[in-house]
Amino acid sequence: MRELDSVETVGVVGAGTMGNGIAQVAATAGYDVVMRDLEPEYVESGLEAIESNLSRLVDRGDLTESSAAEIADRVRGTTDLDAVADADLVVEAVLEELTLKRDVFADLDRIVDDDVVLATNTSTLSITRIAAATERPELVVGIHFMNPVPVMDGVEVVVGERTDTAVAALAHEFANDLGKETWEADDKPGFVSNRILMPWINEGIRAYDEGVATKEDIDRGMKLGTNVPMGPLELADHIGLDVCLNATETLHEELGDRYKPAYLLRRKVDAGDLGKKTGRGFHEY
Ligand code: NAD
Repeated sequence: MRELDSVETVGVVGAGTMGNGIAQVAATAGYDVVMRDLEPEYVESGLEAIESNLSRLVDRGDLTESSAAEIADRVRGTTDLDAVADADLVVEAVLEELTLKRDVFADLDRIVDDDVVLATNTSTLSITRIAAATERPELVVGIHFMNPVPVMDGVEVVVGERTDTAVAALAHEFANDLGKETWEADDKPGFVSNRILMPWINEGIRAYDEGVATKEDIDRGMKLGTNVPMGPLELADHIGLDVCLNATETLHEELGDRYKPAYLLRRKVDAGDLGKKTGRGFHEY
């Protein structure tokens, strides 16, 4: 296994919400980053997101202009998967689909050196199933960043059936090096975070659908009553209702009826009201 002190270049596969956030925090910690997406416009929009985040930090006085420029310079965008071949550590952040992730891991397994750790940012899929698409399952681990990556302090390390303990340790060490605190979960559906969060959100949606309270009062009640920063409906809009539905469906398939997605969640997604990203979910934005 390649140790963290010999990691210079981090490959990030996927330049979307999570991929560009991971690329940003890795570059900020001093790593060179190769960030790959499928189309030039996706790569470009990932790079633009990083630049706009960095310039916000400059405006707030948290970063100098020259450091921001250096960080941005450390991220190279590409559509060429082979450009990730020289990475010393790879973090995958493509869409949450098992077949797609397995294909990406099979490709990465072929092109990167045999001692390189391959991490996935999956929210709910099995690390063990993703790892089984490679010839190096002991070097595959979950490094589950939270959204928005540059803002959230926590990272969940997920250990698959074949993940080597040294690889799990490296995942913690890498996340710590990016300024994150970590916790560890076994490769069971939803890990710690989504196994507990998704039913909370789902029950909030059911309570709204069944007329227990207005959507505002459900959010207000949970914020004031349990001291969380966002209520379930507001948080669902923030995450994306499609993402919540997908995660809840996975939990439902794996863990049975207690995780069955709320009817209203499915109806909202069918209507294209996905939350903040489309301007309308449970609340209007
Ligand atoms: P996203 O849709 O914003 O980005 C995914 C990107 O992957 C897209 O730009 C897509 O073009 C790209 N992609 C698809 N196939 C690819 C391939 N073969 N090679 C390179 N790029 C490819 O999604 P996201 O929200 O960034 O989620 C990414 C992963 O992170 C998912 O597994 C998700 O479950 C997980 N995650 C998401 C959140 C969240 O709140 N959004 C939080 C934690 C974890």
